[in-house]
Amino acid sequence: MAGSPNVRQVLLTVRGSHEATIEPGSESPETRGATRACIELDRFCEGCAYNLRTLPVYRDDYTGIPVVRCPECGRFQPANDTSTALRPWLHRWTSLLLAIWMLTLLAGLVSLGIAEGAMSYANLDELTVRGGSRVERINNTTIRTWSGYGPLEVQADYPYRKLFIATMLITSSLIAFVGGALAVVVVPHWHRGAYFGLMLAVPIVAGVLVAITWRYEAPHLLDWGLLYVMAHMGVQVLGGLLGVIFGRPLARLTVRIFLPTGVRPSLAFLWLADKKPFPQP
Ligand SMILES: [Zn+2]
Repeated sequence: MAGSPNVRQVLLTVRGSHEATIEPGSESPETRGATRACIELDRFCEGCAYNLRTLPVYRDDYTGIPVVRCPECGRFQPANDTSTALRPWLHRWTSLLLAIWMLTLLAGLVSLGIAEGAMSYANLDELTVRGGSRVERINNTTIRTWSGYGPLEVQADYPYRKLFIATMLITSSLIAFVGGALAVVVVPHWHRGAYFGLMLAVPIVAGVLVAITWRYEAPHLLDWGLLYVMAHMGVQVLGGLLGVIFGRPLARLTVRIFLPTGVRPSLAFLWLADKKPFPQP
């Protein structure tokens, strides 16, 4: 074939040494775009990292470029994999970015725990006063008046007490909801049970730490405090579970609203993680 003048061979270098052959000279209107080669080595989709090995290579009708289509996310990409001096640096950057990414996720998890604990502790702290000091509404302004230091006591006539407690509980559940929704989006490869477990564990750990702190802070108000700690724990677990359930549907809706179809394939995992077909343009 190589010596034949009317057959022009196009060699596709697929990952270094392996080659696939395309013979454009044999093209006819019926076979245009037909399969002439396949990917022979491990090569990963640029959109979703699906392994494209053994997949057929097509010639794009307009540009003439050999392309392969990812069956997972539908993305078209050049069949050949160009290797340059930049590649080793790309790998180094990848390792560094992956390490930073993992630290970011860990920091996010710790922040979620701290935020959930802080809500519950702030609730206790705000509703109690130390020996004689009070939170009052004077001339339409809420102020804390200090008149001494003593044991903590519950201020029963705290201004807008019910509104304050409701606001704290709602905020608590919203924080947990955002935590759950982010978890299913930024770490999409877990099983559903693992997210539920995490959304159960974080509020419980945070609540136990707050309870222990409160026990030292105001042992005589432990029962009173535990009620609020449990309430926060409860709404946080609920919020977290709802976040896990609605996180990805909300993310998909957001993508559909804000991103044109052309750039969506890079977020195809939002569909694939739930075994849903990625909507084609
Ligand atoms: Zn893909």
